[in-house]
Amino acid sequence: MQLQFTPEEQAFRQEVRSWLRENLPTHIREQVERAPSYVSKSDTKLWNKMLGEKGWIAPNWPKEYGGTGWTPTQKYIYDEEYQAAHCPRLSSFGLTMVGPVIYTFGTPEQKKQHLPSILSGDILWCQGYSEPGSGSDLASLRTRAERQGDEYVVNGQKIWTSHAHHADWIFALVRTSQEAKKQEGITFLLIDMKTPGLEVRPIISIDGHHYLNEVFFTDVRVPVSNRIGEEGKGWTYAKFLLGKERTGIAGVAKSKSKLQRLKNIARQERSGETALIQDPDFSAKMTELEIRLTALEYSQLRLLSEEEAGQSTGAKASFLKIRGTEIEQALNEMMVDAMGWYGMPYELDTLRADSNAESAVPDYGVGLMTEHLLRRAATIYGGTNEVQRNIISKAVLGL
Ligand SMILES: Cc1cc2nc3c(=O)[nH]c(=O)nc-3n(C[C@H](O)[C@H](O)[C@H](O)COP(=O)(O)OP(=O)(O)OC[C@H]3O[C@@H](n4cnc5c(N)ncnc54)[C@H](O)[C@@H]3O)c2cc1C
Repeated sequence: MQLQFTPEEQAFRQEVRSWLRENLPTHIREQVERAPSYVSKSDTKLWNKMLGEKGWIAPNWPKEYGGTGWTPTQKYIYDEEYQAAHCPRLSSFGLTMVGPVIYTFGTPEQKKQHLPSILSGDILWCQGYSEPGSGSDLASLRTRAERQGDEYVVNGQKIWTSHAHHADWIFALVRTSQEAKKQEGITFLLIDMKTPGLEVRPIISIDGHHYLNEVFFTDVRVPVSNRIGEEGKGWTYAKFLLGKERTGIAGVAKSKSKLQRLKNIARQERSGETALIQDPDFSAKMTELEIRLTALEYSQLRLLSEEEAGQSTGAKASFLKIRGTEIEQALNEMMVDAMGWYGMPYELDTLRADSNAESAVPDYGVGLMTEHLLRRAATIYGGTNEVQRNIISKAVLGL
């Protein structure tokens, strides 16, 4: 196992760092620094397009479908530099989730239709898995699709569908058979959001913002040619996708950049008080978190090293998801704590970099409360951490 970066990898890091620094538009960087969740759809699309033209939009895809051909270590370096440069989060539903499903299991026509528009960012996707009563127990889902000639007729409801109101297409799990074992009666469909009978209703979350939705299907007609793989085998494709989602959620590079921000906040001198970083209790807590993050980083590097050696990572994606999200939440909490009473106000208006609204929060703290509230959900989405522990206990401990 090699845990040192080679001279070639260090040169690669420099190349990535320079390109990102020179090309990321200033107004987007400023928005990411202020409140990453509030980068507009048009700016996200612009950045997606720029990365697509550079050929760096889908490092994890095979080269033949538009990937970079980088080694896992190069991808890791890229991710680190990407976060450190304050680049915006890209929509993961196409690039990380359904894209890999399409190039792995899709027909040549599906690949031709969907992969280029995912890479260019022209078409946005959302994920129609969860339903009321079917979250952790996803296989109990009830949205049904009945075959009528060359079409499926879909009826039912999805919930917690992130960004469905921005999406052009949805990938959805639907039930095509009641008879078989519940996992066997599920089919994976690609559905155009403009299809008649499909309705999106907003859910406003605790931060007062609109990311989440309910999606209703009433006699939505979907061509059979939009089915991924075989009818009734959707569970296999769904699980493949979830593995990709979980590794991404661990977010080591993102947490490293947050740790840096925490240190910057803690170093601020406030009138009449010494900087928080001088406080031994605070400093000890922060150091402990840094140690946990470093341990996670090395676990991820070890996994990358195993991947490079052709070994399967199996349930380790679940381990990364649990640790990564716990650390991210602890960092968010510490940042809000470090703000003291400045952490209290929550001002939606000030979260945009171009806002003229006056903030009661110093610049270095704007957006922290939003991030804190939003990422409370990180231990829930992508499969709750309790459920990930079940996976680990089964797959690793054999319980
Ligand atoms: C911000 C956010 C964004 C989301 N985006 C999407 C999206 O885009 N698309 C989508 O399809 N879904 C999305 N989800 C839904 C998410 O995947 C589900 O919320 C999650 O799978 C949990 O399901 P549930 O909410 O039904 O909770 P439940 O499954 O009802 O779980 C409730 C509690 O019981 C625990 N629990 C359940 N079963 C077990 C068990 N066997 N052992 C131990 N504990 C258990 C859970 O850990 C949890 O604490 C999103 C959720 C959030 C919060």
